[in-house]
Amino acid sequence: MTERFRTYQPERAMWPAPANSYLLRDDRGAVLIDAGCGYRECYEKIVEFLAHEGLEPSDVHTLVLSHAHPDHMGAVPFLLEEASPRIIMHELEVPLAREPSLLNKSFDMDFIPRFYSGRIPEDAPSEFDLLDYFAALCPMGVAEATETVVGGDTLELAGIHFQVVHTPGHAPGHISLYNPADGTLLTGDLVGAVVAWYCPSGGGVHGYLESLDRLEELDVSLILPSHGPPIDDPAAAIRETREFLSARNGALTEELRNGERSLLELTDLLFPSEGMKMFPGLQVTFSHLELLEERGLVVCNIRDGMPYYVLEVTC
Ligand SMILES: [Zn+2]
Ligand SMILES: [Zn+2]
Repeated sequence: MTERFRTYQPERAMWPAPANSYLLRDDRGAVLIDAGCGYRECYEKIVEFLAHEGLEPSDVHTLVLSHAHPDHMGAVPFLLEEASPRIIMHELEVPLAREPSLLNKSFDMDFIPRFYSGRIPEDAPSEFDLLDYFAALCPMGVAEATETVVGGDTLELAGIHFQVVHTPGHAPGHISLYNPADGTLLTGDLVGAVVAWYCPSGGGVHGYLESLDRLEELDVSLILPSHGPPIDDPAAAIRETREFLSARNGALTEELRNGERSLLELTDLLFPSEGMKMFPGLQVTFSHLELLEERGLVVCNIRDGMPYYVLEVTC
C-alpha cells in the first residue's frame, strides 16, 4: 500500500525549506498531508506536483497538517483560494493554526528577553517576533481546522485506516500517522534527515524522547519523514535520533563536572554558532536542563533571574 503515496520532496531538507507533502488519491480526488511554505513559488510547486498526478488544487478534499509550523502549513491560504478541503490537525495545534502569533508562546520566545536582557544589542528590537522571522524565510499561513484528532484516534484517509500517534517535543500537537496494514509511518518532523529543534512548551526533549518511545512500540517498515527521503531502516533512524538527543544530555553533565555553569554558558556549549543561540539554542538547552533536573541529576539555583546549574552530589 506504500506505493499509494505520492511524494513532493523539495531539494533541500533543512529549514527553511518547505516540508515534504504526501498525496493519497481516491475516487473523490486527493488527500494532501502538509502543504509547504507560504511563498507563492512554493505553492506553485504543490500545484505542479498535483498536476503531475492529473489533479487540480480543487481536487484536494482533505488536508492533514502534522503540526502548525510555517514549512508545513504556510501555503494553506493559497490552497484555500482554489479548494475547500476538510482540514485535520491535532486539537492542540488548532489555536496556533488559527492565530500564528501564539507560536511566540509555544516556541518560548519570552526566554530571549528573560535570559538575554542586557546582552541583546541596544539597537536590536526589544521583542523578537517569530512571525517577522518566518516572514523572511518561510511565511506562515492561517488555517481553521474543520476536524481535530488526538493520539489513539483512527483516521481514514483514502480508504487507509491510519493510527494517529501524538508525538510532541517539537510542537505540542505534533502527530505521526501509522498504517498498521503495511507498517508505513509518517513521522512529521520527529524523525527524518535532520533532528528537529524542541522547546519546553512544545514538549521539549522529555516529550521528544517519550514520542520516540511511542514510535518504537510500532511495527514500522518504512518511515516517510517531513524532511528528507524515505527511510527504510526505521529502527536505526529512531535509535540515531534518540542518541543525538542523549548526547546533548551527556555533553551538559560532562561540562558540569567542571563546576557550576549558567544557562547561557551551557547554551554556548551546545550551540556555538552565534545565529542559533537565542533561538533555538536557549530553548533546547533549557529543556535538557529541565529533564536533567527531573531525573535528579542536576540542581538549579536562580540568581538575578539567571538559572545556574550544578551536578547533584550523590553520597
Ligand atoms: Zn516543525
Ligand atoms: Zn518541518
